This record gives sequence, C-alpha cells and structure tokens, in this order.
Amino acid sequence: MIVVMREQASQAEVASVVELLKSKGLGVHVSEGAEKTIVGVIGPKERVRELPLEALSGVEKVVPVSNPFKLASRAFHPQDTLVQVGDVVVGGAEPVVIAGPCSVESADQIIEAARAVKQSGAHMLRGGAFKPRTSPYSFQGLGEEGLRYLAMAREATGLPVVSEIMDAEQLPMMERYVDVLQIGARNMQNYTLLKAVGRSRKAVLLKRGLSATMEEWLMAAEYVLAGGNPNVILCERGIRTFETYTRNTLDLNAVPVIQHLSHLPVIVDPSHGVGHWRYVTAMARAGIAAGAAGVMVEVHPNPQEAVSDGEQSLTVENFDRMVREIRRIWAALSEETALVMGR
Ligand code: PEP
Ligand code: MN
Repeated sequence: MIVVMREQASQAEVASVVELLKSKGLGVHVSEGAEKTIVGVIGPKERVRELPLEALSGVEKVVPVSNPFKLASRAFHPQDTLVQVGDVVVGGAEPVVIAGPCSVESADQIIEAARAVKQSGAHMLRGGAFKPRTSPYSFQGLGEEGLRYLAMAREATGLPVVSEIMDAEQLPMMERYVDVLQIGARNMQNYTLLKAVGRSRKAVLLKRGLSATMEEWLMAAEYVLAGGNPNVILCERGIRTFETYTRNTLDLNAVPVIQHLSHLPVIVDPSHGVGHWRYVTAMARAGIAAGAAGVMVEVHPNPQEAVSDGEQSLTVENFDRMVREIRRIWAALSEETALVMGR
C-alpha cells in the first residue's frame, strides 16, 4: 500500500501518518516528491486496511500496490534514483560507460586497458578478480592480487572501479578496493550475498540472472534496498533462450519495463548479451535507444590473448567508435525530448 499525501500536506501531517503505521509494527518508507509526499507501507495488507488512514488530515488517498517488490517500485518512489559513484552519476544527464576486460590479468594489462578506455570516454573501469567460471579448470581470477591491480589502475586514471563479489565473506576485502560491487548473473539469487551488500554503503551493480524473470530480478534488488543500501544499478546482461548463434539474448524489453516498474537506473551489458564482439556495438546502440542509462562492455588491449571472454571483447578502436555512436544516439533522443517539451 502507499499513502499519497495532499500537495499542501504539512510535515506534521506526514509525521502523524508515519507514527500510526509504525505503532502498528508496519515498515514505512517516505518519498518526498516535488509536489507530493508518498508514504510506502510494508507489511500485511489486512493490517494496513484496518487503519483509518484516509480519515487522517493531509491524506489524499490510499492505493494498493500489487507488486511484491516495494522499495524497488516506482509506486513507492516516483522519482528516478540517481546512483552517484565518485563524480559519476548513473541515471543522470549523460549515458554512463563502464568498460574494461572480463578479467584482471596483470597490473600492466589493467592499467593499459584503463588508460585506453578513459581516453575514449569511459566513466568507470570494470575487471573481474573473482571469476564465476562454468568449468573449475578455467582461470578463476587473480583474487586479491587482481583487486590491488584494479586499485592501481584507479590511481593511474582516476576511474572508479567495478568488480564482482562472489561471496558474502569477501565483503570487507572488496570494500577496501572497489567503488562498485558487481553481483554476477549466477549470484543474483544468492540471498546471503544480497543481504551482505545491503549492509554496505558501496553502490551495487546487480546483473539479471540467466533465467530470472524481471520480477525475480527486482525482488533481488529489494533485498539490497531492504538491507539499507539504496544505491542499486540494474544491469540487463542477456537471458537464456533457444538461440545458439548468440551466447544469450539481450532482453531489451527489460529496459522500458523496468523503468516503468522501478525507479532504479538500468544499464545494459551487450558483451554477455550477445557473446561476439561483432554484434556488441549494435546492441549497445540499441540499449541506449531503448532508454538505458548506460552500458557495460568488455574491452581488452589484445582480445586474442584474453584469458576469459576474448571473443566478446572489443578492441580499443572498436570501443572508441562505439562510444561515439552511443553518444550520438543519446544526444538525438535528448534533442527530441527537448523539442517535445518545448525547450
Ligand atoms: C562478467 O561481467 O564478466 C560476468 C561474469 O558477467 P555475468 O555475471 O553477467 O555472466
Ligand atoms: Mn565476462
């Protein structure tokens, strides 16, 4: 349920609604909009219905929320959430570009990649130090050594770094090195991990699970928000379908659907979405055209030598072109919006 307050409702009126709800043991989330304040209620519907909320002064109406996600829902929080990472704003006026190799391989490799992607306009550097590989015999990542190299690359370029956390126990270590905690597709429903990052103050990049519905994905985000961490970025990275020419199917439906259902920023990862470098730029462009707040792409100084995901990694030259192209699409859409709004 949400309680929509009247436009002129005073702070005291909002406070008395909150007090009543809390006194009945219900969870409360207040969202102050430009015009109206919305009080989101978390708890059994029956208990909320018993309360004389509509009779309280300042209350305009009480509206049921049928979705199981609450804190992640737009009904609870009508304005877009902007996630700030250093000087970078995800969900803001510019498309955010996160780029770098699948895995951190050496100090030289990650620093070279960081310098190159920064030069082409990337806002953040990605690189896995703990890799969730299908085979236990494949490269598993450099571990903490890889995190140290990532921190060196941040030092060298100023780019904030994003890296995958695989286990709740890794949180204190990850927090020492990274700016954004990535939850990988395979861990989207690792609830212990979601609760752990919910206690963190670091931004969380939550990838969609390989066969997760959008509702399951938003419920995963709900865990992080319910734990007290509001800084969640959703990342569509492709889902399993019957198609075999691509590694996954980048589900661009998710972009407008999530934006309708949720206030959280959503970005796309076309690298894992298609699995072949040749198709990555087209799908990055499509993601931005669909309304994504940014892209995360794999870029390697020498893709043929990459220890993981080389086949889907862009060269620096191709990445440079991709950035220019998505910026043009973003600018064209912004101009169109400005025209429609009469600006
Ligand atoms: C990755 O970003 O390298 C990765 C492993 O992604 P996903 O969890 O989407 O497979
Ligand atoms: Mn990868």
